[in-house]
Amino acid sequence: MAWYNILMKSYIVGNWKMNFAVGESSVYLHKLTERIRASRDLEIVVAPSAIALQPLSLQIDRKKLRLAAQTANPHDFGAYTGEVSFAQLRGLVDYCIIGHSERRQLFHESDKQVRLAVAAALRNNITPILCIGETSTERTFGETSDVVRDQLLGGLSEVSAEDINKVIIAYEPIWAISSTTDAHIATPDEVAEIVTFIRRTLTDTYSSSIAEAIPILYGGSVKPTNAGAYLTVPGVNGLLIGGASLIADQFIDIIDTAKKVIS
Ligand code: PEP
Repeated sequence: MAWYNILMKSYIVGNWKMNFAVGESSVYLHKLTERIRASRDLEIVVAPSAIALQPLSLQIDRKKLRLAAQTANPHDFGAYTGEVSFAQLRGLVDYCIIGHSERRQLFHESDKQVRLAVAAALRNNITPILCIGETSTERTFGETSDVVRDQLLGGLSEVSAEDINKVIIAYEPIWAISSTTDAHIATPDEVAEIVTFIRRTLTDTYSSSIAEAIPILYGGSVKPTNAGAYLTVPGVNGLLIGGASLIADQFIDIIDTAKKVIS
């Protein structure tokens, strides 16, 4: 394990996507809170639907868990029907997932929106979790590093020098998300290669101390059975989890694995 895996805080982030009614979210959060022990070295974050953020922000035990939004609009206020802004989320959440592949692909979120969202999050005291990753076609055509570099540097382009170390990066190869077969799951070596590339890109663009201070998470079909392998990849500081975060036993199992890896 590289030294920065050991010194840096680790993160387990559960993206609940458009699942659970508000009441169910509250019951699930209660269950997690009962079963999780607070740890200074491991930040556990859950990202419920926007509608559940306000009630859960009153319920959450911040010593054990933190809240993330799944997306938000970069404008602070205005005529943007149906949207929720970072300014409105200020104080409710500590994190926001930005540029998730489902936002980019299903809702046509552009690179410009992603970069404005990263800046808006920081402006409103919310830590952006910037998602980057290639499609299977891009990988097949050998475009992975170009895509990852463009999404990384594009997403960070509005971030000032003093804010750059307040950002979290999540590498999520799109072909490995929600996979049902092992053929579409990234191997730890494949993850290591891209995470190393991301840190090298950050070093070349900013500095090695900044590159080493930015947490990089891995996401893509993480389960209790493979979490340990991803968490021990050099340079990986945590996991972004979709499907397995919806099942308490699996999510807690992954948290327990993370605690073992850290200790
Ligand atoms: C995701 O959608 O960000 C994700 C990682 O999902 P899953 O864990 O289900 O692959």
